[in-house]
Amino acid sequence: IKKAGLLEMIPLKESLSDIGGLENLKTWLERKANVLSNMDAAGQFGVDVPKGVLIAGVPGCGKSLSAKAAAKLFNIPLLRLDMGRLLGKYVGESEANMRRAIQLAEAISPCVLWIDELEKAFAGIGGDSNGAEVTTRLFGSFLTWLQEKKSTVFVVATANDITKLPPELMRKGRFDEIFYVGLPQREERRKIFEIHIRKRRHQDLPKININALLDKTEGYSGADIEGVIRESVESAFAANKTGLTTDDILQVIANTHSLSEIMKEPIK
Ligand code: ATP
Repeated sequence: IKKAGLLEMIPLKESLSDIGGLENLKTWLERKANVLSNMDAAGQFGVDVPKGVLIAGVPGCGKSLSAKAAAKLFNIPLLRLDMGRLLGKYVGESEANMRRAIQLAEAISPCVLWIDELEKAFAGIGGDSNGAEVTTRLFGSFLTWLQEKKSTVFVVATANDITKLPPELMRKGRFDEIFYVGLPQREERRKIFEIHIRKRRHQDLPKININALLDKTEGYSGADIEGVIRESVESAFAANKTGLTTDDILQVIANTHSLSEIMKEPIK
């Protein structure tokens, strides 16, 4: 698969418990897992074969994490489709690549096919002489496959910018569900802090005043929070401390800017 270049097999490390917040999405995935592991009984009962999900929203808030955790939960391989590689330079190349990717995924099924940065496919990139026409054709065939497929290829499409996606993609019957992931609210940030502190310094977690961190991190993404903890642990280590403290983390927060802050301010 690696050689084909279009699809990459992703190792399964992260699980649902590594995701802070996104409760609706996690519950929904658990329900699909139940169907996938009891396909015959579910089918006889009248339940549809799960098709897939579109997860859209701001960068660094757990979309990729969810794709990985879904495959781990379903206990099936995760194949990541590289949109950049799929879009070819020559006439017909992109469509041929898409067909090849679908064939490979079907050969490996049951599997999760993760289409990362879906909006890239609609940005007219790839150097094709007629970008818009190609993407229309390309996604015409993709949508037909998505709607009619009988194999257990569960599609997880992730996108940052939902406004760049064509409305046909959002119509009922394409994906089973569409989730929008926003910046984490206060209680979600609490979970994300706990996850990342526990991962590196679980012994210090009971001493950390998480409320103090929440007050200072409005507008931070999950990736921002992970970055804060990574840096705090490193600076505590550099200062020869015996563990991580609330002050270490607050100091890093004071010196960083959240993504939303950076986006608001023009770069000088
Ligand atoms: P992008 O669009 O930039 O790919 P994304 O939404 O896919 O962003 P992820 O790759 O899932 O973001 O997040 C990056 C990292 O930030 C994750 O590996 C994880 O460590 C951390 N992170 C993001 N969101 C969460 C979350 N909800 N809970 C725990 N960790 C998170």
